Amino acid sequence: MTEVDFLLIHPWIYDFSAHDFWLKPYGLLKLAGLLRKEGYTIFFLDLTDPFYPNLPKAPKRKNYGTGHFYKEAIPKPLFFRDVPRRYFRYGLPFPLFLKEISRIRFKAVMLSISMTYWYPGLFVLIDFITKNYPEVPIFIGGIYAKLSREHLLNFVKTYPSSWIEVVEEPLEEFVLRLKRKFEPSGRPHPHAYPAFDLYQELPYVILMTSEGCPFSCPYCASKRLYPKFIQKDSKDVIEEILFWHHFYGVEDFAFYDDALLVNFDRHLGVILEELLKRNIKVRFHTPNALHARLITKEVAKLLKKGGFVTIRLGLERVEDPLDNKITLEEFEEAIKNLKEVGFSSQEIGAYLLYGLPDEDFTKIERALEYLHKLGVSPYLAEFSPIPGTPLFEEAKKTSRYPLSEDPLFTNKSVFPALKNPDWEEIQRIKNLARSIRKTLTF
Ligand code: SF4
Repeated sequence: MTEVDFLLIHPWIYDFSAHDFWLKPYGLLKLAGLLRKEGYTIFFLDLTDPFYPNLPKAPKRKNYGTGHFYKEAIPKPLFFRDVPRRYFRYGLPFPLFLKEISRIRFKAVMLSISMTYWYPGLFVLIDFITKNYPEVPIFIGGIYAKLSREHLLNFVKTYPSSWIEVVEEPLEEFVLRLKRKFEPSGRPHPHAYPAFDLYQELPYVILMTSEGCPFSCPYCASKRLYPKFIQKDSKDVIEEILFWHHFYGVEDFAFYDDALLVNFDRHLGVILEELLKRNIKVRFHTPNALHARLITKEVAKLLKKGGFVTIRLGLERVEDPLDNKITLEEFEEAIKNLKEVGFSSQEIGAYLLYGLPDEDFTKIERALEYLHKLGVSPYLAEFSPIPGTPLFEEAKKTSRYPLSEDPLFTNKSVFPALKNPDWEEIQRIKNLARSIRKTLTF
């Protein structure tokens, strides 16, 4: 039996699809790091961990640490019967979870989930813990808890005799609050980095060198999650990269920043120059889109030299832009700069947002052809309406679901903003994007 102060669990994902494209519960890992620094002992259980020992089948892995999750098909919610796709629970089979949790003794549990429509995994855990460990307090944080607080509180109310708290303050303040209630049973850990070392295998590490975004796009939750844009000191980021590279041999790093290129000369530029000076050979990936407008010749040159191999740009729309984040001329200039320094079509990808209210798929098709001609890999990003954003209100008018009633209705795979999705047309567009990606070789 392992005895710890806190058990931190990242729940299963319930969804039509989920891939490990550098997908890790960053907030929960950050909390784990802060707690260890204070001397708390913890057990970290990521129920989606694709390397978890004794999974019935090892999920396939791909380049740069990405890959599949272990999954099991489950019945989909009844109101999604019009969606011609299967529904899955991604992560450890339930018996394996039971075996793991039964060997741990803990004083409190901390849970966190990111996408709002992934809450079923969280609810299953809350129910399980309140029934099996009725005396143990539960703390819940993360993006879902922030964006859909009322929804979560309504569920929590159904367990009136349990101690369940929704964490609202920044993690550093939350840890201070915990210190007034729980005595640490261990020794302070030497560092407070997000606790990636608790994974059995570490094919990549996530970096978040800033919080928030100085822009305000009408479909984005960044401002609600982080009202201010704050960048970390570049020296601290360099040390963090060196730490993971030297002590854990990590070669792949993915940035979760919303605005990584802002203040380039004072921030990312400094980080890359310093790593080059020390001859550090690592690879960088940007699953969150970069701002193409900020990719000048000099920026492109340093990104290439510094080891970026996955560049994703937020183009969103070619016709009918939703904001003034980028013009097509600026986008083309960025592509020219990236290509001139040697980035290939496979390395440069652009996100196209589709599935907006009253979507015109012929425009998406033209956008795909536009990227094809430019030699940029197209990546389709299905629109998921986020409560509290202007586009959520638009989507409510056109959706076939009562969007405000349940976050499940905002699942991007169901094309929630469309009244009557043409699934064949959607599949045709997806196939077209895929075949363009495969044919691009320059
Ligand atoms: S630029 Fe990106 S992160 Fe910033 S508000 Fe727009 S979509 Fe959100």
